[in-house]
Amino acid sequence: MVLSKPSFEQGPIRPPNEANSLLLRLTRNCPWNRCLFCPVYKTKAFSRRSIEEVKADINHIAEDKEKIKEISRQEGYDGDINRAVVASVHAKFPELLPVAFWQFHGGETVFLQDGDSLQLPAKEVAEVLVLLREKFPEITRITTYARSRTILRRSVEELKLLKQSGLNRVHVGMESGSDRVLSYMKKGVTGAQHLEAGQRVKEAGLSLSEYVLLGLGGQEMWLDHAKETAKVLNGINPHYIRFRTLAIHSNTPLAEEVGKGRFKTLSDDEVIREQALLIDNLEGITSYIYSDHILNLLEEINGQLPEEKPRLQDTLNSYLNFTDRKRELFRLGRRTGYFRTLADMDNPSLKTAVEGIYQEIKSGGYSIDDYIKQLLRRFI
Ligand code: SF4
Repeated sequence: MVLSKPSFEQGPIRPPNEANSLLLRLTRNCPWNRCLFCPVYKTKAFSRRSIEEVKADINHIAEDKEKIKEISRQEGYDGDINRAVVASVHAKFPELLPVAFWQFHGGETVFLQDGDSLQLPAKEVAEVLVLLREKFPEITRITTYARSRTILRRSVEELKLLKQSGLNRVHVGMESGSDRVLSYMKKGVTGAQHLEAGQRVKEAGLSLSEYVLLGLGGQEMWLDHAKETAKVLNGINPHYIRFRTLAIHSNTPLAEEVGKGRFKTLSDDEVIREQALLIDNLEGITSYIYSDHILNLLEEINGQLPEEKPRLQDTLNSYLNFTDRKRELFRLGRRTGYFRTLADMDNPSLKTAVEGIYQEIKSGGYSIDDYIKQLLRRFI
């Protein structure tokens, strides 16, 4: 089957928790595009879409929604967009699939793409938000990515205008609060700028999600990375702190740095030590911590600060206090999909399955580390 293009434009990425959201593209690619670790837009130039183009997309999405409802009615489902209707759309009208999928998941959330939507003038973004809310009154949440440097070019009043027009949350790729790490990684922003931008988003009344990239300090800067990131987060008190773990993509400048021996990555265990230190240093804030990314070793590091901090610390320390073999077994179980939490190691059938793979790898003379690296390539 030849897939037809949707009637509107979409970009390549979104935050993990926006998997069921409508992806609406306001700009293309990233205006900075220099971060050493980032593979996403490296060969692509940044451009702003015109407000007319974006509005036309919203109108197309509304038309698509009506077409899907009509398909539902014709198939006897009374306009309901259920699994059978999505399957039918998939088979007969694949160009309608993004909207069918969105509607199937409730049609209530929207993510504005790509990497830095606030590059558009605030008035234009506000017009888009108003039209979205008008066409789809059932929308409950609209979010976007924004760079801290771009946020600092917007006044609190402009950010308030976005909030009043229907924007709910800004996702910021902080990655680190350490100036050493940020400068080495060419992130184009300082810890102080992250701090000011985060505070500005909150002052405007918007929800704020800050992404932290574990492992970004490597062997040389991990202490600085953990402590300085905690310090900036303490100054912002974002609504959400979201952990991701560094993976080195082959087509990035960071891969070259690793090849030349200038950047030494952390092992899984060292990443957990870094995460434990970072969380130890989070003080006086009420953020919710999420580890909602497939590459994070401990997916269960989720909880409300400050009350759940001791539980998160206990989990991290439990892992670090395991024997070498038990940590290796957990890593293998997690990366093969058998284990999701440390408690899964107490499940006899899961443990037996992972022990079996472990013995097979060892008896073949292979290293568990190499095997895990192979597995991780599937997600990079
Ligand atoms: S600002 Fe974000 S999208 Fe742009 S290069 Fe850096 S990490 Fe990638």
